[in-house]
Amino acid sequence: MKINSWQQQLNNRLTTVKDIFEFRGWPYSEDEIVKSSSLPMFTTPYYASLIEKADFSDPIFAMTVPSPEEAKSEQNSCDPLEEEKYMPVPGLIRRYPDRAVYTATLNCASRCRHCTRRWQIIKSVCSDWRETLPAVLEYLKKEPKVEEIIISGGDPLTLPDDEIIEIISSLKKQGVKILRLGTRMPVTCPMRITDDLCQKMKAFSPIWIQTHFNHPREVTEEAKEALSKLADNGFPINNQTVLLKGVNDNTETLEKLFRLLVINRVRPYYLFQCDKIPGTEHFWTPLETGLKIIKELRERLSGIAIPTFIVDRPALDGKVPLSYATSKENEIVFSEI
Ligand code: SF4
Repeated sequence: MKINSWQQQLNNRLTTVKDIFEFRGWPYSEDEIVKSSSLPMFTTPYYASLIEKADFSDPIFAMTVPSPEEAKSEQNSCDPLEEEKYMPVPGLIRRYPDRAVYTATLNCASRCRHCTRRWQIIKSVCSDWRETLPAVLEYLKKEPKVEEIIISGGDPLTLPDDEIIEIISSLKKQGVKILRLGTRMPVTCPMRITDDLCQKMKAFSPIWIQTHFNHPREVTEEAKEALSKLADNGFPINNQTVLLKGVNDNTETLEKLFRLLVINRVRPYYLFQCDKIPGTEHFWTPLETGLKIIKELRERLSGIAIPTFIVDRPALDGKVPLSYATSKENEIVFSEI
């Protein structure tokens, strides 16, 4: 069967490890892999086709399949950034005066094992935009200081075009001046970026696209075509990468990724320290790893290819940028890394 459209990709998602092995034509042994997790596993046939080895040393496999390490710490579904505390109305996370995140859906094309919204997905908190949007619009009417909304999820581009446009146009009508749309679709289901979708969204420009490439192997010909459609239609594209042990925690991998992104008109915007979410411990790196990588990237790449290294902290601390150099008494001080 040909699976060319984004709808076919979503309708034919692989929902078990066995499905992935069978899809790739690999022999499957029940004992090898963890079969269940409180965060369900699924992925598109497209993203599964990027897996080269059925092994956790393969970065795409590791981001897709629940590892035995994950099962060891599946005891809870906590909210490490305390986002739930900062929801003035269901679905809207406001940690800053001028901007907020709106989780329009909890659906995604592929479930990332490092997902920060694991708590929300497991508890199914605010999963349907039709239920949450009216109260969000009411709230924004009373809070005109909120000028910027990041439409996020889940992945809002799992919704059909008319639903995305309804969300965007309602927020614009409510006076939102800056819209960002967070999506991993260019990575996990690049056929979602259709000419039609771009044309419809273009009417509401500017919309900043915030995507999530973690590894150079994700920058395929299909992904490049999706990025090109977005850029040709005037959407500025920023990328957020999560630093993940065994996936991309070395300078060579990230140098390659960031070069590819810039060539494809995507600005490497943030490199995130992996959030302290139960079930993701096997992906955590020491802070020094990220600082060392950024230092080495400075010697290899131009400024436009170097993201800010960020630790996201709970509550109102928000995103804290980390740098390997600071100042003391007007002198530059380099940290020992
Ligand atoms: S696409 Fe985003 S929201 Fe969906 S599982 Fe991955 S990180 Fe989480």
